[in-house]
Amino acid sequence: MKQTLIIGAGPAGISASLYLARSGKTAVTVVTNGESALAKADLIENYFGFAQPISGKKLIEDSRKNAERLGVTFVDSELVELQINMDMKFDAETADGEKNTYDSVLIATGASRTTPRIKGLKELEGKGVSYCAICDAFFYRGKPVAVIGAGEYALHEALTLSNTSSAVTVLTDGKEPSFEKNEKVSCDTRKIAEITGSGKVEAVIFEDGEKLDISGIFIAVGTAGSTALARKVGTPLDGNKIMVDENRATAVPGLFAAGDCIGGLLQVSKAVADGAIAAMSMIRFLSE
Ligand SMILES: Cc1cc2nc3c(=O)[nH]c(=O)nc-3n(C[C@H](O)[C@H](O)[C@H](O)COP(=O)(O)OP(=O)(O)OC[C@H]3O[C@@H](n4cnc5c(N)ncnc54)[C@H](O)[C@@H]3O)c2cc1C
Repeated sequence: MKQTLIIGAGPAGISASLYLARSGKTAVTVVTNGESALAKADLIENYFGFAQPISGKKLIEDSRKNAERLGVTFVDSELVELQINMDMKFDAETADGEKNTYDSVLIATGASRTTPRIKGLKELEGKGVSYCAICDAFFYRGKPVAVIGAGEYALHEALTLSNTSSAVTVLTDGKEPSFEKNEKVSCDTRKIAEITGSGKVEAVIFEDGEKLDISGIFIAVGTAGSTALARKVGTPLDGNKIMVDENRATAVPGLFAAGDCIGGLLQVSKAVADGAIAAMSMIRFLSE
C-alpha cells in the first residue's frame, strides 16, 4: 500500500487525512509536535455546523478522534528532516529518530505565532491580548490598537485592523521593521517594558517610561517552521508562504501544502477546504 505523510494536526492536516483515509488508496500518518493554533481559540463562532460557539480545543480534539476512527495514525513528535531520495520518494525523520519513507507528503504546519516575553502579556491573554486580527478586529471597532511584530505578518495584521480600529500602531519592540512603510498604520520601534490594564488591556509602557493608550494588542511575531521544511526539499517560497498551484501542489512532484502555511485567509474554514483540495490532488498523484 502507498504511504502518505501529513505534517501538522491542525484543521488543514486533519481535513486532508479524512479524505486520504477514506480513499482506501494509502496508509496515512499524521505527525504533530503540539497543539494546533485552533487550540488557543477560546470560542469559535464563525465556523459551520454549531448552534452555539465551540471551544477551539474541543473542535480539534473531536476532529482528531474522527480521523483516528477512520484509521489515521498519529505520531506525536516533531518532524525534523525531509529529503527526496533516488526513487523520488520522501525520507522523513522525527525528533525521536524514527525514519520512514513516503510516496507523498502534505505540509500543513500552520503559521508560527511566536509569543514574546513581555510583562503583563500572559495575564491579559483573552482580555485584550489577541493572536488573530481577522478573528477579533470586530471587538475593537473605533478603538486604538497595537500589533507587536516587525515583519510582513505584523503588517498584514495591522492592515486588517486598520479597516475597523481608530488607530493602529505596529510595535517592533526594538527591532528594525522588515516591511515597507504604510500610511494606514504607524510604527514605533521602542523597546516595550510592560502591557498594563486592570482586567483588560489599557496601555503599553515603553522602556523610556512613555505610555501608549490602547484597547487591544495583537501578537504577530515572525512565521517559520513550514518554510524550513519547504527549503529542505527545494520548493519555492513567497516570503514565509509555501507556493502552491490551485491543486495545492508545490513545485516538487508528490509534495503538497495546505492551510495557514500557504497564506491567504488565516481561518479554519479555509484551512479545512485547503486540506480537502490537497487530499484529492494527492489521491490523483498516488493513482498515476
Ligand atoms: C487565538 C486564536 C484564535 C483564533 N480564532 C479563530 C476563529 O475564531 N475562527 C477561525 O476560523 N480561525 C481562528 N483562528 C485561526 C485558525 O486557528 C487557523 O487559521 C487554523 O488553525 C489554521 O490551520 P492549519 O491546519 O493551517 O494550522 P494549525 O492549526 O496551526 O496547525 C499546525 C500544526 O502543525 C504542527 N507542526 C508545525 N510544525 C511541525 C513540525 N515540524 N513537526 C510536526 N508538527 C508540526 C503543529 O503542532 C500543529 O499541530 C484563531 C487562531 C488563534 C491563534
